[in-house]
Amino acid sequence: MVWTYLNNDFIKKDEVRISPFDRGFLFGDGVYEVIPVYDHKSFLLDDHIDRLARSLFLTKINKPKVWKNIPQIIDKLVKKNNFNNQSVYLQITRGVDSTRSHIPENNVEPTLFITSSELKVNPFRINPERDRLEMNLIEDPRWDRCDVKSVILLPNVLAMNEAVKEGKDGVLFYKEGNITEGASFNVFAVFDNLVVTTPESKRILSGVTRKHIINILNKKKVKVLEGQLELKKIFEADEVWITSSTQEIQPVGKIEDKELVYKPTHESLWFDVLKVYFESELKIKS
Ligand code: PLP
Repeated sequence: MVWTYLNNDFIKKDEVRISPFDRGFLFGDGVYEVIPVYDHKSFLLDDHIDRLARSLFLTKINKPKVWKNIPQIIDKLVKKNNFNNQSVYLQITRGVDSTRSHIPENNVEPTLFITSSELKVNPFRINPERDRLEMNLIEDPRWDRCDVKSVILLPNVLAMNEAVKEGKDGVLFYKEGNITEGASFNVFAVFDNLVVTTPESKRILSGVTRKHIINILNKKKVKVLEGQLELKKIFEADEVWITSSTQEIQPVGKIEDKELVYKPTHESLWFDVLKVYFESELKIKS
């Protein structure tokens, strides 16, 4: 049996209901967060909670009454569900109005919904030699506040569906000649001894994994530049990586119809970073 959490209660997945007058359903008026859980322990939880608070602040959605208890609620939910590794999704919408209107009613209580499902192991942990990812490349179709982790994901959904239909693993976005990020991940590229990743701005989601990987690289004394990733240069990169909480770090092997030239896995920086990532995750278990 799988459990969820809605507002104040733990509810079985098959029995949970929300109103169609919820503003998340009517207007996409909500934000969310995804937290990876390894061996029943949340990974980098504080960073995720901080980003959720920022998304709420920027959208002027109130914090739910149980805000301070969210870590304990996540902990309980994770224990109630059986999977060792889980992805916990927290959705917060502006709440339920009595009639449909762009302008919310006064004193609407936000809706808090938390689910967890099994987190699939990064396939590059199981087999680092497996085929690297193939990506579509399209002009960024999203709005200009991609730093808000908003539930409005229609452009991402359409772009990802198109990519999967074409047999690809995902899609990279570009704007004005520079890679912004992917439909569900940040992007890094390696040029000689320099790692470049798109700087934080309204054009990208400031990834928790991105920050964690920059820290790993800093500790390894690898030079990192938070600078523009020029579209025309991406094909000359020694390595291109995608990063996210559920995908960790994964290498890209092909963009559109162009194969990227790669060093063997054991000489690649992404593989080194993945090993450290794995160790940092083990630490939270102990
Ligand atoms: N960019 C986008 C558009 C995303 O949807 C995500 C994750 O869902 C990320 C980047 C990576 O963020 P994080 O590392 O915090 O999971």
